[in-house]
Amino acid sequence: MPVDPSQSDPANVDVPAALDAETAARLSALRNYCVLDTGHEERFDDLTCLAASICDTPVSLVSLVDLKRLFFKSTFGLDVREMSYSDNFCNHAIRQREIFEVSDARVDPRFAAHPLVVDPPRVRFYAGAPLVTPQGVAVGTLCVIDFVPRQLDERQRKSLRLLARQVISQFEINLQAMRDPLTSLYNRRQLEESLQREILRSAGSDAPIGVMVVDVDHFKRVNDTLGHESGDRALQVLAGELVACVREEDIVCRLGGEEFAVILPGADAETLTERAEAMRRRIERTALRVGQHELRLTVSIGLAVYPGEGESDVALLRAADAALYRAKAEGRNRVVLGLSR
Ligand code: GH3
Ligand code: MG
Ligand code: MG
Repeated sequence: MPVDPSQSDPANVDVPAALDAETAARLSALRNYCVLDTGHEERFDDLTCLAASICDTPVSLVSLVDLKRLFFKSTFGLDVREMSYSDNFCNHAIRQREIFEVSDARVDPRFAAHPLVVDPPRVRFYAGAPLVTPQGVAVGTLCVIDFVPRQLDERQRKSLRLLARQVISQFEINLQAMRDPLTSLYNRRQLEESLQREILRSAGSDAPIGVMVVDVDHFKRVNDTLGHESGDRALQVLAGELVACVREEDIVCRLGGEEFAVILPGADAETLTERAEAMRRRIERTALRVGQHELRLTVSIGLAVYPGEGESDVALLRAADAALYRAKAEGRNRVVLGLSR
């Protein structure tokens, strides 16, 4: 699916519509890991502390290369959360895919005039090992920085590479803990965390957030007629259909059983209703292939929009749930918006 962050993210309105494939893959991987705009965690702080110690530098960072900024998942020796330079040391490191080292930035024509070099913190030495996902996408760096010129030795370079691999391992372990094993969708815990994060992001910008709660109609019949195993398979196929209905930046979760939720950052009531209707129609029209069988299912969808229907994750999900309850009561296979009467 092509990535077009300008569609939904009001902070990125001036972003060109088409991103180059590498940038699109990187942003998609970062979104998938759910690591941007999250707090510091000890397991990453341990790795930056180790990197600084082994490389004997005052500073080490886990730096994630977002569209127009660096987001620091962990910092050692420098109190900074993000930096807005689109051209920076880490961009070079992720492009070259090997340790990128600048022994004296002040005499390097690529960096001599860079604000990070000219102004505080006055970086002189930089070495960054790219963080490469198992799919081969470089999402950022584990880097070390010094304020005097210097070089790493071979042992330090090797350690930096290994520690960078550990950062990615942590991202991957986290990813597994966020997913529902049957459908590979995000699980309920992740839904709550994502919604809380989106609310924090929107609070400053007045951007709406749409929430859908989707429940399969009469799903018990599938189990009763085809058996539980086919029921499981049907849920997997259905999960794929739900993902196919939404944009890359939307977050699709399995709440449990045959109930799903979708978070649509930036979607107001009108957009949300349109998308939910499109989803409802698609499911209604699609023959789901489950083993030998072609299954026809319908879904009921309850909607709520931040901040109108709730200002917390709990309130929003409750409002969407209440709307879903009405959709069921009014006959199923329909979409109902939270406070609409
Ligand atoms: P409606 O929502 O339209 O009111 O009817 P329903 O039959 O879908 O609703 P209900 O909540 O009563 O039942 C949900 C059923 O979904 C119960 C169970 O048989 C089935 N179910 C829940 N989780 C799973 C699962 O993980 N695998 C399978 N195969 N079935 C599940
Ligand atoms: Mg149901
Ligand atoms: Mg249910």
